[in-house]
Amino acid sequence: MERHEHAVWHALPPDAAAQRLNSPPTGLSAAEAAARLERHGSNRLAPPRRASAWVRFLRQFDNILIYVLIGSAIVTALLGHPVDTAVILGVVLINAVVGFVQEGKAEAALDAIRDMLSLKAVVIRDGHRQEIEAEALVPGDRVLLASGDKVPADLRLLELRNLRVQEAALTGESEPVDKAVAPVDADAPLGDRTGMAYSGTLVTYGQGQGLVVATGQATELGRISTLLEQVGSLSTPLLEQIGRFGHWLTGVILAVAALTGLVGWLRGYHWADMFMAAVGLAVAAIPEGLPAVMTITFAIGVQRMARRNAIVRRLPAVETLGSVTVICSDKTGTLTQNAMTVQSVALADALIAVDGAGYAPDGGFRIGEAALAPHDAPGLTALARAAALCNDAALRHRDGEWLPEGDPTEVALLTLARKAGLPAAQPDWPRLDGIPFESEHRYMATLHATPDGGAVVFVKGAPERLLAMCSHEAGRDGAAPLERARWERHIAELAARGQRVLAVAEKRLPTPPGVLAADTATSGLTLLGLLGIMDPPRPEAIDAVRHCIEAGIRVKMITGDHAATARAIADRLGMGGDGRVLTGAEIEVLSDAELERVVANTDVYARASPEHKLRLVSALQTQGEVVAMTGDGVNDAPALKRADVGVAMGAKGTEAAKEASEVVLADDNFVTIARAVQEGRTIYDNLKKAIVFSLPTNGAQGCVIVAAILFGVALPITPVQVLWVNMVVAVTLALTLAFEPPEADIMRRPPRGRGEALLSGFLAWRVALVSVVQTVGSLGLFLWETAQGGTPEAARTLAVNALVVGQILYLFSSRYIVAPACTVEGFLGNRIALLGVGTLAALQLGFTYLPWMHTLLGTASLPAEDWLLVLGVGLLTFAVVELEKAALRVRLRRERSVGEEDPSEPI
Ligand code: ADP
Ligand code: MG
Repeated sequence: MERHEHAVWHALPPDAAAQRLNSPPTGLSAAEAAARLERHGSNRLAPPRRASAWVRFLRQFDNILIYVLIGSAIVTALLGHPVDTAVILGVVLINAVVGFVQEGKAEAALDAIRDMLSLKAVVIRDGHRQEIEAEALVPGDRVLLASGDKVPADLRLLELRNLRVQEAALTGESEPVDKAVAPVDADAPLGDRTGMAYSGTLVTYGQGQGLVVATGQATELGRISTLLEQVGSLSTPLLEQIGRFGHWLTGVILAVAALTGLVGWLRGYHWADMFMAAVGLAVAAIPEGLPAVMTITFAIGVQRMARRNAIVRRLPAVETLGSVTVICSDKTGTLTQNAMTVQSVALADALIAVDGAGYAPDGGFRIGEAALAPHDAPGLTALARAAALCNDAALRHRDGEWLPEGDPTEVALLTLARKAGLPAAQPDWPRLDGIPFESEHRYMATLHATPDGGAVVFVKGAPERLLAMCSHEAGRDGAAPLERARWERHIAELAARGQRVLAVAEKRLPTPPGVLAADTATSGLTLLGLLGIMDPPRPEAIDAVRHCIEAGIRVKMITGDHAATARAIADRLGMGGDGRVLTGAEIEVLSDAELERVVANTDVYARASPEHKLRLVSALQTQGEVVAMTGDGVNDAPALKRADVGVAMGAKGTEAAKEASEVVLADDNFVTIARAVQEGRTIYDNLKKAIVFSLPTNGAQGCVIVAAILFGVALPITPVQVLWVNMVVAVTLALTLAFEPPEADIMRRPPRGRGEALLSGFLAWRVALVSVVQTVGSLGLFLWETAQGGTPEAARTLAVNALVVGQILYLFSSRYIVAPACTVEGFLGNRIALLGVGTLAALQLGFTYLPWMHTLLGTASLPAEDWLLVLGVGLLTFAVVELEKAALRVRLRRERSVGEEDPSEPI
């Protein structure tokens, strides 16, 4: 077995380290890896310790209202009302169980989302590169690192090229460190062990190969045992704000309750009655179920987003998503399909069209209408060969299907090479070295030996870059001086068709140099030609862009492509703006103030690098915009962090980009961002609905009790009945609003203002209105029944049922904040709500007619005709709210037609 315990890896030369771990250059075999996995366990950090179920259950009781209730249970026991004591304790217990279960569900939802963000690693096993789950890494595995990767385990670096690693997770130092393979002193501190790459750190530049020396808990990261937080805990500024408001409200209500009890006592009531009245008032008025309802609404919304491919890494982003005013999106792969096909080839003396679509190499070449055989155009063959060799992708043919592997732009070049009749592999041209593609430099170069014993550098990249590197062009009769103007015309022509343009060049060398230096690769080249690559827009993105514009959200495209390409694609996507395209070079010469002015009207940014993204975000934010920004590369991290909502690509994005983001798109699709915004708005709406629905229950019960004390009548609702109402209404009704689908106009409203209060003046007004109507209804029925000579039990049962039925009908009104609810959809649109209503109806029948309920809760059976009265009160509530909404709609319409240019929403 491999011996490696206590080895000082950073002081060992790479070969010695590999030997100690029995790791051959071809990597471990699958069998050996499986055996080691068995022995070392999976490469996973122990999850952060969770409070045990018991502790979480007991925490449900840590609430001032519960203390009040337990206190009153003791008092009722001392006063000799064992039934009341039992009911109060029972309700306290049921509340705790419901809270516990809901919290568990919310946490489970987040755990599932956490699992969707699992880390992958590229290893060499059995002599092949393969991508595996980072959890399956074992000591001795050879891991390939590239810029943007998160290091998946502790690695002894074996070879590298310009490898730079940011080790803040471990050392706190945010400047990236240059790595080197040479051993260092055995007692070097962590930050100086340049031959190591530690788990949890980020590769910011270059490439490398490392040997896994420690996994899971044995890594340095495991030793300091801080699991990097992936998905935050179940809290957001909004929820915290509501929590604080709840505490404050509780305090106020307790004070009012105490005061009311005191006043009653001074007016001559028995103190025990007044104590129970005060407890009843406190229980009635404090919305104790609301925080749980809001948390679950949040969790359900986040889960729904995840199901639609938007994975939320930081919960507060959900709130921000709903108020996004600008989405800055990458083009390639997000707005377009990232399914590339070379459609045009420009040589010095010919413009050639390429037939066929997709990656299958079916299709030939044409000049105008005349077919062209590849062997008649040596320039074409040379260009195709260079493009296929200066390439890291693969195109496999399996079961009659052509499977792309790697960067789609490069796969398209392999397809072209096949169409040009070149073989899949070209062993006569072995690659000796290379400079990888980086979006800052926009070129890639490789060094090859040639069949005649010499060497050649192939370079491909953005045409402006390459034109600057070329001195010559390839023609029928050998190389000729570069005719720049002609090539520029070709570039403009291809780009105007919406094609991505790539230039390919070469440089012959008599003997191969040891390594390929950037200087060698970027000067004195001979241009072989241009390639025009089509990447059609995603059809669904066209709709999504329109929806965003209707929703008051500007869509801006930021791409590394040519300005004309970007404009052509933007037009096909129906993007608005002033029709201008701003290039990275133009951005660079603008001052911040000038950029702020331009950014408001220009929607397309071309040849832009990550640092331009950062300036764009800042400029937009200075203009008061709430910006969502997409990104995939390691250098996008600053812009992603700066944006109000950073959105990383899940499929082609780097770990570095994901770590800097709030949201990860599992499918890299622009549509998913638009949907996430919609979902963010829906969650916010549903939170509002839950509040506006819940508070009147408390308001009405509180008012009824205060009125009874002030007018000196018997309590229309006893404290245990209040407990009952609060519990059943919260669980069967309020919670169902969490499942409310988006309202029809959700993407036709302007974005919500930043920092807008959840409970605006108008919603507070509705809470007050409904509270008053409910109070009048239930107090009225109570007094009426009493006047008819009914027992207090019967009168209370009537009053409680009036409240509950009022809430049931109000639930349907609450499904829409301003839209009318008297529609088929309004009554039947939320199945879960119907289920809740059915359950509640059954509960109320039990409450009214079951003898043991009579004993427990002090209720009495009602004659059938009393239900008509109850229903009447319910319908009254419904009618009042619907009338109020109608008035509101008229007002909104008038305001909108007056202030068209002022998009601020009064709701
Ligand atoms: P984006 O992803 O925003 O569309 P990129 O940064 O990927 O833009 O590409 C910018 C330009 O760099 C492209 O227009 C193309 O000319 C060139 N380019 C893209 N991919 C490669 C590659 N793999 N090798 C060489 N050049 C490339
Ligand atoms: Mg790209």
